[in-house]
Amino acid sequence: MLPLLSSWACPVDQTRGRRFAETPAPTRTEHQRDRDRIVHSSAFRRLVYKTQVFVNHEGDLFRTRLTHSLEVAQLGRSIARPLGLNEDLVEAICLAHDLGHTPFGHAGQDALNTCMQGFGGFEHNLQSLRVVDTLEERYPQFDGLNLTFETREGILKHCSRANALRLEAQEPGGVAARFLTGHQTSLEGQLANLADAIAYNAHDVDDGVRSGLISVEQLQTVPLFAHFYAQTLADFPQLAQAATQRRLLYETIRRMLSEQVYDVIATTRQRIDQAGVHSVDDVRTCGQRLVSFSDGMQTQSQALKHFLFHQLYRHPQVMHTMDAAQQIVQELFAAYTQQPTMMKARYALRAQQAQSEAGVARVVADFVAGMTDRYAAKEHERLTGQRLLP
Ligand code: MG
Repeated sequence: MLPLLSSWACPVDQTRGRRFAETPAPTRTEHQRDRDRIVHSSAFRRLVYKTQVFVNHEGDLFRTRLTHSLEVAQLGRSIARPLGLNEDLVEAICLAHDLGHTPFGHAGQDALNTCMQGFGGFEHNLQSLRVVDTLEERYPQFDGLNLTFETREGILKHCSRANALRLEAQEPGGVAARFLTGHQTSLEGQLANLADAIAYNAHDVDDGVRSGLISVEQLQTVPLFAHFYAQTLADFPQLAQAATQRRLLYETIRRMLSEQVYDVIATTRQRIDQAGVHSVDDVRTCGQRLVSFSDGMQTQSQALKHFLFHQLYRHPQVMHTMDAAQQIVQELFAAYTQQPTMMKARYALRAQQAQSEAGVARVVADFVAGMTDRYAAKEHERLTGQRLLP
């Protein structure tokens, strides 16, 4: 039995198709099949050793890109079902959304983007698409995972105009077309994007406090946190004791998450109604993003994001690690560009076949972007003799 979805959802039994035609699976929908391919990919397994905010060696309980992706998928599904959206598609997009992330989080991505200036730059959303379209090598008939149009479109959540033009030339009317026409992605794609933001705002509060880099006292300046912290304490005054501080924090975060989820569901329903959309095509051409927070929650969520940016992501201790991370990425890039044979065999071969300096640089970027934190640190040590991170 296929679930009954709203008219504005991407249908479960239809897809705009795969780049290489395949026989449908006997027991799974096309988007379930996409999700399964993503979970079985090598890039997905590597996410466990990639930094979200804290580098892997800093502690066993911090989020990694893998646990982050699982939390995004959980939130995505929770919101998808009451809205009558295609849950399997949401899950597939959420699980794949960070596949193209470099080692060492945003520091790694910024460093790689700097290295790639002059060669087309480096964008992690586009890289996630490259992973599922090209870089995974699992199937005899094609490169990549050959995912459906809907999943690929959701993965490419941002794209520069220059890259959109390049993609459009290869695939006319394809996944990049909306960046040129101003159309929207499906509701499933919009939801995956928002679920990402809800997830990291919440779990970075948890990890930030756990690390000792931010305190519950500092968080009192964030209205969303302060409100639910006070509410939890009023309901459970006994949690104020030192021994139960973690439960107090968890309950506060749980309430913050629930409130945001309910807010998105109610606001999105309202917007769908107001926009009068009745189909996926209406969603694409209605001229506005329909999956969103209410204005009030948007302001509160922004305030939390702003707090985390300044107090956690820019914390001197995080920055110190990230400086080392940037140096690792830059020096790896320089070493491989000079001597492509130092890369793994399949990348060395691709570099040898590349027609231009930009082509070689792209192969090097693909290789470096695919690395886990510890593999990058080890490779850097092998090539330079310097150990920058434990
Ligand atoms: Mg993410």
